[in-house]
Amino acid sequence: MNGILNNLALALLRRRHQHVILHITTRCDLRCKTCFVDKGGADITLEAAAKIAAALPGVRWLDIGGGEPFLHPDLAAICRLFPQSAITIPTNGQRPESIYETAQALVRDVRTELTLALSLDGFPEENDAIRGAGAYEKALCTFHLLRAIPGLVLKINTVVCNANSDRLVEFMGHVRALGPDYHSLLLLRGAPSDPAMALPPMSALEAMTPEVLDILGSYDYGDRGNPVLRVLKKRYQRYLWRISLKTLAARRCYVPCKAPWLHKVIYPDGSVSMCELMPPSGNILEKPLYEIESRMAADLSAYEQARGACYCTHNCNLGENIMTHPGSILSVILGLRP
Ligand code: SF4
Ligand code: SF4
Repeated sequence: MNGILNNLALALLRRRHQHVILHITTRCDLRCKTCFVDKGGADITLEAAAKIAAALPGVRWLDIGGGEPFLHPDLAAICRLFPQSAITIPTNGQRPESIYETAQALVRDVRTELTLALSLDGFPEENDAIRGAGAYEKALCTFHLLRAIPGLVLKINTVVCNANSDRLVEFMGHVRALGPDYHSLLLLRGAPSDPAMALPPMSALEAMTPEVLDILGSYDYGDRGNPVLRVLKKRYQRYLWRISLKTLAARRCYVPCKAPWLHKVIYPDGSVSMCELMPPSGNILEKPLYEIESRMAADLSAYEQARGACYCTHNCNLGENIMTHPGSILSVILGLRP
């Protein structure tokens, strides 16, 4: 029964591409120790972005990725190519004035929900040890400028690792007092540029869980006017944290991964992967999407046959997996533990 409901939900949701991460540049002005992305220096062209937008009608949620997206001179023009999508843009916040100016243009031009995600990985000592000297100060300046722009959802992203976990709960309280719309914790993933970076031990993650959940549950998630949605988002964030820990503990996807069907990660040259940790399965500037999707399913199956079940804790992928999994949907609605 559960399998039938799963397939039904998937069939309905596939009618609209769920989630696309479009990496518009590989340039970045930081060299974070936790970073796993290529920083070779390529920008997507506006022409290529327009072709990609035409090949992906009806993207529900577009994540702009990088590198540092605000270094791309056509960031606002690229966002305008996706008028029906809710858009999230991460930033390292290192160029406060120019990010502020571009953000104002984005708020003016993006008609659907726009979220900016500013990276802060801890108090100044922890943050700058991971992200580089002076990075905290500039990012904080950017935070205050962006906070003053009406119509923008502003969140803080923190990558959780062994270099910031000791004071993470204290830092979450500090972020809470700054007043973002919410705070996302991203468990370290991929192959960090500094091999000394690792996840904290499971015992530490479990020990901090009650306080983490309390703070996550204290945000409005940009939905002050909609109490039902606000409660569901709080429950979802708590469920997401618990599912992430269960996935790590079990070393398998606690909620089945549907990456080949629900996720697309597109790089500046048009190559497409099912997620950020898998290699490209084709190029959307050269092949129709349905061909690339079938290739992705075959690639995942070959990977799992060779190396065992694939699993990860990437919030974006887990989010779509949860939202297409009937048991998880019910648990989020009722506020149950996984
Ligand atoms: S994590 Fe982000 S900000 Fe840091 S080096 Fe990588 S792309 Fe740049
Ligand atoms: S489990 Fe994670 S890493 Fe594996 S295919 Fe799915 S999204 Fe990618």
